[in-house]
Amino acid sequence: MRLADRMTGIGSESAFEAAARARALEATGRSVIHLEIGEPDFETPANVRKAAKRALDEGWTHYGPFLGLPALREAIAADATRRKGFDARADRVVVVPGGKPVMFFALLALAQAGDEVVYPDPGFPIYESMARFVGAKPVPYAITQEHDFRVDLDELEGLVNERTRLLIINSPANPTGGVFTRSDIERVADLVLRHPELTVLADEIYGRIVHDGEHVSIASLPGLEERTIVLDGFSKTYAMTGWRMGYAILPEPLVDPFGKLVINSVSCVSSFSQVAAVEALTGPQGDVDAMVREFRARRDIVVDGLNAIPGIECAVPAGAFYVFPRVSGTGITGDSFADRLLDEAGVCVLGGGAFGHAGGDHVRISYATSRENLAAAIERIAAFVAGLGTSTPR
Ligand code: PLP
Repeated sequence: MRLADRMTGIGSESAFEAAARARALEATGRSVIHLEIGEPDFETPANVRKAAKRALDEGWTHYGPFLGLPALREAIAADATRRKGFDARADRVVVVPGGKPVMFFALLALAQAGDEVVYPDPGFPIYESMARFVGAKPVPYAITQEHDFRVDLDELEGLVNERTRLLIINSPANPTGGVFTRSDIERVADLVLRHPELTVLADEIYGRIVHDGEHVSIASLPGLEERTIVLDGFSKTYAMTGWRMGYAILPEPLVDPFGKLVINSVSCVSSFSQVAAVEALTGPQGDVDAMVREFRARRDIVVDGLNAIPGIECAVPAGAFYVFPRVSGTGITGDSFADRLLDEAGVCVLGGGAFGHAGGDHVRISYATSRENLAAAIERIAAFVAGLGTSTPR
């Protein structure tokens, strides 16, 4: 079958592929510890599940308004005003199925051939994939362990020019767990204000999962609300990855284009899920706080465990639920480490190369699994690395 030319550049997300490989191995009877998963291992809070069941029984089973249920748009705006520190308005909120469509819609609406999209490397693989898909040139900026997994503003300055249409920032970040400081965000804002054609896509999907420091939304800085597409959602904060619930908070001129893209693609988000999402935002937040506390405790266990293994160097990430250790000290690349660790030791992690060239010496480990699993995984990784010293690298 002849595919359209635009399909040649499209990428993928290695977490889904690695999980499939791991499951195939398990089907042969092998034990696998899953550290590849980019989703909380907690249940969606009980009050939210209950609200969805009630909504189904009350008949929330039809199409809803394409921009989202008014009550949900109001709740999102109120939540963002409280937590993100800018005066978010409900008429700027568009509800979409997950955070991912916000990336796709932003790129479709703003970027085309001849335009440049500046994005973090390593970073969420869909940024580069979708930039390429819409015909724009993806331009990576490096996120390094040396720089605390934050942005190097001097490098970023040199990459932004008059062709740059979109600057993507992600804090707290996947795959590194890095968090931009207030001063980083202020300098990014200053750069944006000096480039009138530039829009920011601020991926804040991990904004509630911060262990050290604070989450600063760039939209809260003077003049930036009108220049920023805020991407957020329910997947990570409320352990709702399977619900497909996300949203954008947009500059006014983008609301209509986003609405048209919604109508042309998904029509609207499932109505009963939206009713439950109102409960997520307005109901008790104790489950979210408990989840974040548990993530922090696990982070410390994983970082200590990994740093005790010769050849592995693991920085302490300030947010999200990932660590991004450098493994090149063991004599192999991150991708080869991940492949062999699964085959030889039954631990599934992701090679850092899947998140961009700058991640090649690293692997991504998700600690969204029980402390017991994490302890067992660390033991297996230590034994695997000890074996590397005595075997011939492939
Ligand atoms: N942004 C980042 C940085 C992510 O890591 C993810 C999911 O892994 C998403 C966005 C997408 O979230 P959703 O599942 O809500 O589409």
